[in-house]
Amino acid sequence: MRTKIVAGNWKMNTTVPEGVELAKNVLAGISGKPSDVMLILGVPFTHITKVGEIISGSGIGLAAQNCADKESGAYTGEVSASMLRSAGCGYVILGHSERRQYYGETDERLVAKLALAMKEGLVPIFCVGETLEQREAGNHFNVVESQVRNVLFTLDPVHAASVIVAYEPVWAIGTGKTATAEQAQEMHAHIRKVLASKFGEVADGMSILYGGSCKPSNAKELFARPDIDGGLIGGASLKAEDFISIAKSF
Ligand code: PEP
Repeated sequence: MRTKIVAGNWKMNTTVPEGVELAKNVLAGISGKPSDVMLILGVPFTHITKVGEIISGSGIGLAAQNCADKESGAYTGEVSASMLRSAGCGYVILGHSERRQYYGETDERLVAKLALAMKEGLVPIFCVGETLEQREAGNHFNVVESQVRNVLFTLDPVHAASVIVAYEPVWAIGTGKTATAEQAQEMHAHIRKVLASKFGEVADGMSILYGGSCKPSNAKELFARPDIDGGLIGGASLKAEDFISIAKSF
């Protein structure tokens, strides 16, 4: 049995008071209701401590959206994995396409980030996904496979076992265009096959989330597929009601 996960990626949205309000609303929406779905909030760095206090003891996980590729030192503006850990994070999103696209995130840098995150005991939510051009050229399986190989294949099976993978086709992120459940399932199955080629049966236990315009109206169909273990949710995670409704879609 793989862990079912619904993780929110708030991106660069909400002020601290707005984020606190959102976290409180998520908490209120789930309170007292036991669930087998793991919820994670991926918040801006500035919100980690405050949101952490609100969700403390609730079972909701706390994620940062990035970490530095260096351990510590003269790297102005960067936030290290150990800082995230000490601030209360249990998870970190790595390799999101917006970071790859706008901030020059490379596989090489991601290898360093992944190692530092794991050294601190943070669970990485590692994002992969192809652009529309790559899909139209028929290269989507190869592109995603090399993102997995170049970064995750640097791990041993014990560390790989704890990684959460998120398949997020770039053309579906924030566009309102969702991958069909068939498209998502075939890519998730491919990712699992690639992971199994390196990590064997460990791949069976790894959660692979779908991300890209996932919302209450399409989550059920996506989550019903055998290799889709949940979602990484951008826009819809900014409304507690929608986020919770997605989490109830299994
Ligand atoms: C994301 O950026 O991780 C994402 C899935 O965004 P959205 O749900 O808004 O497409």
